[in-house]
Parts: sequence; structure tokens; C-alpha cells
Amino acid sequence: MKKIKDFTLEELKEELKALGEKPFRAEQIFHWIYVEKVKSFDEMTNLSISLREKLEQEYTLSNFNIIKKQESQDGTKKYLFDVLDGNAIETVLMEYHHGKTICVSSQIGCKMGCKFCASTGIAFVRSLTAGEIVEQIIAVEQDIQDKISNIVFMGIGEPLDNYENVIKAIRILNHSKGLNIGARHISVSTSGLVPKIYDLVKENIPCTLSISLHATNNEKRSSMMPVNNAYPIEELIQACKDYIAATNRRISFEYALAKDNNDNLEDAKALVKLLKGMLCHVNLIPINKIENGSFTKSTNENIIKFRDYLNDHGIVATIRRELGSDIDAACGQLRRKNL
Ligand code: SF4
Repeated sequence: MKKIKDFTLEELKEELKALGEKPFRAEQIFHWIYVEKVKSFDEMTNLSISLREKLEQEYTLSNFNIIKKQESQDGTKKYLFDVLDGNAIETVLMEYHHGKTICVSSQIGCKMGCKFCASTGIAFVRSLTAGEIVEQIIAVEQDIQDKISNIVFMGIGEPLDNYENVIKAIRILNHSKGLNIGARHISVSTSGLVPKIYDLVKENIPCTLSISLHATNNEKRSSMMPVNNAYPIEELIQACKDYIAATNRRISFEYALAKDNNDNLEDAKALVKLLKGMLCHVNLIPINKIENGSFTKSTNENIIKFRDYLNDHGIVATIRRELGSDIDAACGQLRRKNL
């Protein structure tokens, strides 16, 4: 059965035409799904009963079930969703002063094998469809009865390894007749799939590109992130410079500080040298300890020194607030779960 949330509005119009219906019906359905957030075709009361029956036969709304919901002391919520095929994924909701931010997963498992990530060591199962990405936002909005203002693709999976579905999900999320979440409020993170960064330039979507950098030389980065063997730092930074030149958009570099690994002054100096002159921002992340992980969190003193060195040398850097670490919802702590 086809998943109706996998279609953009334009595609849905084609689907409706194929059913012998007028294209405006697609707009009505889109409204019911993304604005009213109904959970069944039966609730789409301005459609004829016969159309509702046809939809029921051909499509599924694939509403996720919440298997578990945990709430952190800081208000962060972690959802474990049943994706209806025997697998489960995690989605995190965080409260910032500028609104509610959701961290979505893009795949079930991940192939990238970053050493500091809890998803590592868990077999990759499959990529999520566009509708399954979108459903994470809808299911959370249904649960909290409120609107999400920002989306970050930083949950389980490498978003650019599921390129087509992630781009389609962004177009659905961004549509003015749907959830209407501005592209500028959407961040896509990558471990550094260079060819896909060039593809992203051509999409002309003004979302934020976020690069998981974490080290300034190939030896160290490859030891933390195997993807660096395929796309070394020089190629990655060149792709970022080309991205900025083509889009005039600021890139966000993620740098997870691990004690005695990449958190000393020499690393900060090398980072300044690498990023000097680029339209960018550095997000420093106090690395979170994970089960079987070989990295430990940097001291607060080192984190602050590192930030100050960057800021004093022309690189805008901030320390990311640690949210949800008591429920393993912080960066690098999400993992795929079997049902
Ligand atoms: S950090 Fe992201 S890209 Fe790396 S293994 Fe974890 S989920 Fe995959």
C-alpha cells in the first residue's frame, strides 16, 4: 500500500488525477494531513464517502505509534516510534528560547560508523521514506498539541546518504499549504559526503548546512569518522567553500570536544587556520559519554578556553546547551532499537 505522506502536493495531484478526481482534492487532503493532522481518511469530511473509501484502499496514513516517551529534567522529550515494519526510531523534542526544535532521524541505523556515536555498531537496516521523516514531526505535534518551529536532521542516520527522501521531506515540510516550516528553520547535518554537498547547492533550498567536522587533520578525523577516508578534510573544506560561494549561506561546523583527543589549544589553533575567512559558525558540543564509547567529555574549563580562542581569532563559536543527556537524548546518544 502506498504511503500518502510520501507525496509532495504536486505528486498527490497526479495521484488524484489517476483516481479520476480533480487535482484540488489533493489540496484538501494535504490540508487534512498537515494542518488538521487527522489520523484517518474518515475524518476528511469534505471528501465524498466514495473518495474516502478509495483512499482507504490505496493508501495508508502510516501514523507512527509511540512505544515510549521519556522526559528529561530540562523538558527535552525523547520519543521511540514504531515505524510499523518491526523497527523503531528515536526522535527528540527540545525547547529553546526561540521555540520548539525537533531532531529527526533519517535512517534506521547508520552506515557511517562515527566512533563517538551510539548508532555505531548497530546494523544499518534501511533509509526512511520522505513520509516517515515527515511523520516524526506530525506525530510529535499531535502529541504536544503545539507547533514545531525548527527541524534539525541530526538524529539517527546520515541525511545525505538518504538524499532523495530527505530533500523531498524538506519540500513537504516547507510547503505553504502544509506544515509551512521555513527552510531557514531547517538544518541538515552531514558527516561529509562531498558529492552530495554539491548536489545540495543545486536544490536551491535555503536550509542550513551543518558539517560534523570534529577534527582538523586527516589522521585524527579518520580515527573518529571513517567517512574521512573517502572524503578527506581538504576536499570537504573545498566543498564547503564552494557551497558558500554558490549560496552565500553560512555553514555551521559541529565540533564535539573529547577529552585529550581534540580539545587542546593546538586543535583550536588548527581549527582557526582551517576555517579562517569562511562564512561560518562553530558549534562546540561537549561530547556525551556513550556505552562502549572510547571518548570522554572535555572539562568545562577546556571547553570555555577552546571557545574563547576561536572567538578571539575571528571564528564565531558557541557551546551547544546540553539537553536531554539524562535520558540519552543528547547528541550522539540516539540509537536504533528493535521492537
Ligand atoms: S554521528 Fe551521525 S553519521 Fe555518524 S554514525 Fe552517528 S548517526 Fe551516523
